[in-house]
Amino acid sequence: MTNYYNKDLYKILNVNYNATDEEIKLSYRNLVRKYHPDIAGKNVDESMFKQIHEAYEILKNKESRKKYDILHGYYTERIRKESEEIIQKKQKEKYAEYIKKAKENASEAASFSKSINNALDNLFYSQKHTSKQNKPKTPVNGSDINIDLNISCFEALNGTSRKVNILHTQPCPNCEGRTFLNGSVCTMCNGTGQLSLQKKINVKIPKGVTQGSKVRVKKEGNKGLYGGKDGDLFLIINIEKNKYFEIEGMNILCNLPVTPYEAALGAEIPITVMKETINVKIPPLTSSGQKLRLSGLGLDNKSKTKKGDIIITVLVKFPESISEKEKALYSKLRDISKDDIRKDMNDASK
Ligand SMILES: [Zn+2]
Repeated sequence: MTNYYNKDLYKILNVNYNATDEEIKLSYRNLVRKYHPDIAGKNVDESMFKQIHEAYEILKNKESRKKYDILHGYYTERIRKESEEIIQKKQKEKYAEYIKKAKENASEAASFSKSINNALDNLFYSQKHTSKQNKPKTPVNGSDINIDLNISCFEALNGTSRKVNILHTQPCPNCEGRTFLNGSVCTMCNGTGQLSLQKKINVKIPKGVTQGSKVRVKKEGNKGLYGGKDGDLFLIINIEKNKYFEIEGMNILCNLPVTPYEAALGAEIPITVMKETINVKIPPLTSSGQKLRLSGLGLDNKSKTKKGDIIITVLVKFPESISEKEKALYSKLRDISKDDIRKDMNDASK
């Protein structure tokens, strides 16, 4: 049966969605006559008969029809009228009950008159309220949604795209944001008038965004009520700290780890910057913290004539552990080294 929720049951039953129960029943009977295998013979599609029957099973029942209507957005006018009629009827019944009680007990008439006044107030309020609901309501604009988005410095530079999950609110389709239905709290939204809807959207981040930039996606915020505008989605850009690379103006700053022997003997180390491989020449006897400038290999801002640079900071690093053999070699190195790199230090403290 659930499959039928995906189909246009009104079309199958050849009625419009405001059709009364009686109209639906009548149309169903006509169609059954037309499509019944015993009557129609083999020329008529047999599955039609089944579909008609299933459609009728859903639409003849008040609850299942309502469920179907809500799912398909057919609810508006019919359900609104229905619920208002019920509210008015309840108020009138309440009022009649008060009058009846007041008449029954004359001695309590004085205290009841207050109740009657309250009942009348309620009735008038309800009617005023109801008549307001028939007119278009004041539009309420949906609020904006802000989401933090982490991107790398290169994504900020070149632009990127992301799939983001957003949770936005929309008016409850059951009560249309009125929180009450048929005189009781709406069961679909539990009286909040809103439902949350999860949505995945693809967002393009333009190139050149900076830390804290706000990227706006129109109308993907919370939905407006009663014809109000939908809010926007704002992505607040956070450029993630990268332990190797950083952008500074037109320059790319790079921390380059090198081994002690690369630092001592010099080396040629290939690094990849924005999909391009660059061979960095480390001269012999390079100390940790020493900077190397690769001129013109930085960012290319077409409006400026000069390109930026890559500025390398050499960091001499050791592996997590070294072998006994390596240890022995370092010992040997210590024993044969004669240069005192701290010879100026004692003078500096005088
Ligand atoms: Zn609701």
